[in-house]
Amino acid sequence: MRAVQRLCYAMRMKMLVTGIAGFIGSHVADRLVARGDEVVGLDNFDPFYDRRIKERNLAGVRGKARLLEGDIADRDALDKLFAHERFDAVIHLAALAGVRPSIQQPWRYQQVNVVGTSHIAETMVAHGVKRLVFASSSSVYGDNTELPFRETHRVDEPASPYAASKRAGELLLKTLHKVHGFDVSCLRYFTVYGPRQRPEMAIHKFCRAVDTGNTITLFGDGSSSRDYTYVGDIADGTIAALDRAPGGYSIYNLGNTHTITLNDLVDKVGQAVGKPPIIKRISAQPGDVAHTHADVSSAQRDLGYAPSVSIDEGLAQFVMWMRQQPTAN
Ligand code: NAD
Repeated sequence: MRAVQRLCYAMRMKMLVTGIAGFIGSHVADRLVARGDEVVGLDNFDPFYDRRIKERNLAGVRGKARLLEGDIADRDALDKLFAHERFDAVIHLAALAGVRPSIQQPWRYQQVNVVGTSHIAETMVAHGVKRLVFASSSSVYGDNTELPFRETHRVDEPASPYAASKRAGELLLKTLHKVHGFDVSCLRYFTVYGPRQRPEMAIHKFCRAVDTGNTITLFGDGSSSRDYTYVGDIADGTIAALDRAPGGYSIYNLGNTHTITLNDLVDKVGQAVGKPPIIKRISAQPGDVAHTHADVSSAQRDLGYAPSVSIDEGLAQFVMWMRQQPTAN
C-alpha cells in the first residue's frame, strides 16, 4: 500500500489549466483535482457570459486548486507565474468560444485565441515546460463534405473567424513545436454539452426555452446535424491526451461519433424536459456548417478514448443540472 502511495505521489503532476472557470475547464479541473494532481487555474472571467455562472463552475475546485484571475495576454504575469510554479504541463482552454459572435468581432477572436495561445506557448518555452494540450475545435473542418471528419482531411476553409482562429492556433503550435521541440496535442472538440454548458449554446438555450414555455428559434430546415459530445467524455479525453499522447505534435478528434439532426435533437429536448417544444424557423446563419461527424479512431488507438454517454443520457444530466441552478442567470 505504502509503495503504491509513493508511486502516486511521485507521479502527481503540477498543471496549469487556462480557462478553468469555463464550461469544459471546470470539468477538467474537477477530475485533475480528484485524482490528486496539483492544479493552478487561470481565468479572466471574460464577460462573454455571466461571471456568477463561472464562479459556480468553480465550486468543486475551490480550496483544492490555486485559482488566479488574470489574462493570458499579460506576459509579465505569466512569466512570474511560470517562474514561481514550475509546471509539468499546461492544458490551454482559455479562448473566446462561439462561432456567430466571432463574425462581429474577428479581431478579438484572433487576439485572444491566436495571440493569447502564442503567449502561453512562448512562456512555456521560456520556462522549459514540455507538454501542452490545446483546445481546438471541429469547426476547423468548415464545410468539409467528406464524412466522418478525419484528422488527415484538409482544413483550409474555415467558415468563421472563430474556426480560423482555432486552425491558426494549431498551425502556430505546430511551428513552435518544430522550433522548440515541446510536445503538443491539439484536441478538436465536437459540440460539447452537459452540465455547465455555456448559456448561449443550442442545447442550453433549447432546454431553458422549452422548460419555461418559450419559443425555440431554429436556423435552417432542421436537417443540419451535429456530433454532440458529453462533457464528461471530453474531460476524460483531454486528460488522456495529457497522460498518454505520444511525444511530438498530434491532433485528435474528440467527438461522440453518433450524429443527430437538429429536428431530432429538438424532439429529444422535449422528451428530456417533459414538455412539447414551440418552434420558430428562420434561415441558416453565416458561419454555421451543415454537418459535423467525428472519426475518433486515432484518439481510440493512442489515448484509449471511448465516449460512453448517449445523447438521451446526457440531456437528462443537463436538465437535472439546469433545474438546480438559480433562475436569475
Ligand atoms: P467557456 O467560455 O465556458 O470557457 C473559456 C474560459 O476562458 C472562460 O471561463 C473565459 O473567462 C476564459 N477566458 C477567455 N479569454 C481569456 C483570457 N484572455 N485570459 C484568461 N482566460 C480567458 O468555453 P468552453 O465551452 O468551456 O470552451 C473551452 C475551450 O474549448 C475553448 O478553447 C473553446 O474554443 C474550445 N471548444 C469548445 C467547444 C464546445 O462545444 N464547448 C467545442 C470546440 C472547442
